Amino acid sequence: MFQYSSSTMTQDGTSLSPEQALQHARLTFQNNQVYSIKQRITEVKRVIEYIRINRESITDELTQATGKTRTDALVSEILGVLDNLHWNCANAKRILTEKKVHTPITLLGKSSRIRHEPFGVILLIAPWNYPLHISLTFAIGAFLAGNCVVIKPSEHTPMPGLLERIFAAAPLLASCIQVIYGDGKTAQQLIDAKPDKIFFTGSTVTGKKILRQASEHLIPVDVELGGKDPMIVFEDVNIQRTVAGALWGAMTNAGQSCTSVELLYLQRSIFNPFITQFKQAMEELVINTGDQGNADVGAITTNFQAEIIQEHLEDAKRKGANLFSVGQAISATSRLIPPTLVTDVSEDMLIVQEETFGPVVCAIPFDSEDEIIRLVNQSPYGLSASVWSKDLKRAQRVSHALQTGAVSINNVMLTEGNPALPFGGVKESGFGRGKGEEGLLAFTRSKAIIIDKQSSKKEPNWYPYTIKKYQLFSELIDTLFSNDWLKYIKLALVGGKLEKTSQQARGD
Ligand code: NDP
Repeated sequence: MFQYSSSTMTQDGTSLSPEQALQHARLTFQNNQVYSIKQRITEVKRVIEYIRINRESITDELTQATGKTRTDALVSEILGVLDNLHWNCANAKRILTEKKVHTPITLLGKSSRIRHEPFGVILLIAPWNYPLHISLTFAIGAFLAGNCVVIKPSEHTPMPGLLERIFAAAPLLASCIQVIYGDGKTAQQLIDAKPDKIFFTGSTVTGKKILRQASEHLIPVDVELGGKDPMIVFEDVNIQRTVAGALWGAMTNAGQSCTSVELLYLQRSIFNPFITQFKQAMEELVINTGDQGNADVGAITTNFQAEIIQEHLEDAKRKGANLFSVGQAISATSRLIPPTLVTDVSEDMLIVQEETFGPVVCAIPFDSEDEIIRLVNQSPYGLSASVWSKDLKRAQRVSHALQTGAVSINNVMLTEGNPALPFGGVKESGFGRGKGEEGLLAFTRSKAIIIDKQSSKKEPNWYPYTIKKYQLFSELIDTLFSNDWLKYIKLALVGGKLEKTSQQARGD
């Protein structure tokens, strides 16, 4: 494994501790406020170009660091990140520019604006499953919004130097985003150095620890956490296509995706034919690591994750589940876990209750719409889900009833494929939204501004309070919130009287 130290190098080659890195980011933030959104977009376009041109060598590094298949690396990481950055470049100016908003009639003569100001320094704590996509998408969103960023990649997939090489294509951006290598302790030190906001992607357990630590300093945190995503299949679907979708949704990135399908709910009448076709499709999977683009399912990135998956499978087997696997038994060196379908599961199994995060899916029959909504909403998690049915009214009705952050209808993990859509969960899957308009605004603090003219006039609600003013305000409430068709004429009259009274001294 890469030997990390809790330090980073600045552009001039100096080594920094977590505290110094935060301090450095704060200073850079102050100095870089002059750069416009247009200049920042130009920088991001340079990064896009660098990744586009160097995608094969970046894919090499990604596959070596994670063991994922070459196609998973190219599509889920590189295409995914480019798509998000491209969308951000096209939309950031519209979303982040100061906006004029409506001013009510009671504040006649004023104008109201919202400014989306950067927080300052964003600390991004990233997981190991999509080490490029997650770090880059959010770090660059935060940069576009005007922040400086400190990224703490996972110690399990640090890919030392890769992010820095990418950033070097854009000098201003490189000066605003630092990478600090280290483990959980390094992340804790970075939190204690008081960044202005933390954006965390990782497990629910760690997310809760971060929230506790951040609360000591009142640092706002967005948490993108684990999931146990359901795929709900009604009996009227095209089985062949749905099987293909379920297989990819369960096995992509060897199941190491927060939104991969872990629970496959099948309406009882199609359970058996669906399972038969699913097993046939599983038999055709190519399982390999270090491939040239021709393997479907790759390796598990870390030993500890492989152990968790094994533990879930053994627990299920012990408690009476049926396991159907393809490929060879796990090898300690390759971490290739055979894709597995689990049936005859019960509520007390780890594989049903906890995030497995591997190439494993449980198939469970259900009978009715009400039952499946209740079953899914019982889960402590709520990241995303998919609903499959020819009856789009039913599919939409179910999607509205599900307590999740996203739902794909007649497709799987597809909301993530559209950079305009927000991403995030509910319940134990976290809160806050990354990506899309909400994702960019999450890196800003909204500042409300109201502009009045310089004049000699006092406001009606300023002192002195008098009986006459009180009665006029009472009349104003009646007029303002009534449905009277003469409302605006009456408002003008009351407003005029209030205006006049407000300019008088007490006792006039
Ligand atoms: P972890 O929670 O273990 O780690 C995430 C990051 O937090 C890593 O950089 C880790 O460092 C760091 N960390 C560990 N301990 C602490 C601590 N006490 N304080 C601060 N930071 C700490 O998650 P994984 O890396 O194992 O990632 C897998 C998890 O991420 C899964 O649960 C998955 O569902 C979730 N995930 C969620 C996504 C979402 O958007 N909702 C997307 C992708 C993944 P280090 O690794 O160096 O120990």
